[in-house]
Amino acid sequence: MTKKTLIVGGGIGGLAAALACSQAGQSVALFERSAEFTEVGAGVQLGPNVVKVLQGWGLQAALAQVAAFPERLQIRSAMSGAELGVLQLGASFSARYGAPYVTIHRADLHALLLGALTQQSGAQLNLNSPVDRFVEHEAGITLHTADAREVQGDVLLGADGVWSRMRQQMLNDGGPQPTGHLAYRAMVMQSSLPASLRSQHVTAWLGPKLHVVQYPVRGGEWLNVVAIVQARMTGDIQNWDHSANAGELRRLMATTCPPLQNLIQAIEAWRLWGLSIRPPLRGAHEQAQGRVALLGDAAHPMLPYLAQGAGMAIEDAAELARSLATADAVPTQLGQYAHRRWSRNARVQARAIRNGQIFHATGPVRWGRDAAMKLLGERLLDVPWLYRGA
Ligand SMILES: Cc1cc2nc3c(=O)[nH]c(=O)nc-3n(C[C@H](O)[C@H](O)[C@H](O)COP(=O)(O)OP(=O)(O)OC[C@H]3O[C@@H](n4cnc5c(N)ncnc54)[C@H](O)[C@@H]3O)c2cc1C
Repeated sequence: MTKKTLIVGGGIGGLAAALACSQAGQSVALFERSAEFTEVGAGVQLGPNVVKVLQGWGLQAALAQVAAFPERLQIRSAMSGAELGVLQLGASFSARYGAPYVTIHRADLHALLLGALTQQSGAQLNLNSPVDRFVEHEAGITLHTADAREVQGDVLLGADGVWSRMRQQMLNDGGPQPTGHLAYRAMVMQSSLPASLRSQHVTAWLGPKLHVVQYPVRGGEWLNVVAIVQARMTGDIQNWDHSANAGELRRLMATTCPPLQNLIQAIEAWRLWGLSIRPPLRGAHEQAQGRVALLGDAAHPMLPYLAQGAGMAIEDAAELARSLATADAVPTQLGQYAHRRWSRNARVQARAIRNGQIFHATGPVRWGRDAAMKLLGERLLDVPWLYRGA
């Protein structure tokens, strides 16, 4: 029987869920508080586990038009510039995991999902629609918007991001906590950079209490650069995109090697995110209750150090659509969804935190890391349990 699925939030997670549920024959109504569907100007890496899901939704050709397909992930010392380790991402990696490693502009990924959704489905997309709360009753669920509209449905999905209001009503477990890590990000045309700074690889530069990640997007024409530092954030942490001060970033990078400093110097315009996280959910019972389930950052916000936050939201969406397609009652279906997702999400969250500690290591731990990376490179960088998919 066709169910009506109400989705709160039109970010990458909400759109992915709307697409997956529509393709599975559900009736979908999505509510986004903003006046238009937009994504910030930054990049996102997608492992083969995620690309496989997108391909399954018929997005392979569209993805090929806008993404970049780097052939190498390299780890370099931010201090000496030396190469510490390499993971080859080319043909053998794709063959091993059944899909390529992709880097893409967030806005392109968002537009890809939105395009498929509007072309392929009758999903109802409501902009300017902040959702205030929900009321669950025996026969269904009622969503209340801030402008006093009431909408009836069978399932409610909270895909409303790290500061999720739906989670607050469901779990009442307080807000996310600032990590003390700040992400400066920039996007530049490769042609505007000196040839020595252009790159088609994923590169992570590791230094004490900092790291920088760079990779191509938009078919390789643009370079996405993210510099993560440990420093105090001033201003509203909930507003995750502040104008950033290039001078302050250059000061924080002053001890790094010349090639990295040259890259940082070559970029004028930086935006700033303060990174906040929550601990992993304690069990499936926290990801779904009755007719309500959480998805993406609303359920499992994570540090970006495994580059899988959007990826896990997309995996969530695929699993949700599968679970809602069974003949069970809605609470059982959502229970199955949560059961299949929460522990993988928690494992990715934990691994991302650990990566952050390793990336930012100081003193003897840093020397040990560099030595291990040189010795075991590919084995340390490959993550088979993750890239094989859920
Ligand atoms: C620096 C950085 C780098 C990253 N790099 C990667 C990467 O390489 N790979 C990767 O997979 N992930 C990456 N991530 C993580 C990824 O960006 C997030 O996990 C992902 O965007 C979460 O998507 P979401 O849809 O769950 O939430 P969001 O993108 O936050 O979307 C939530 C949506 O809900 C809407 N909303 C909120 N409240 C309401 C309400 N009450 N009513 C209606 N609408 C509402 C918001 O307006 C928004 O549109 C990175 C994150 C950061 C900060």
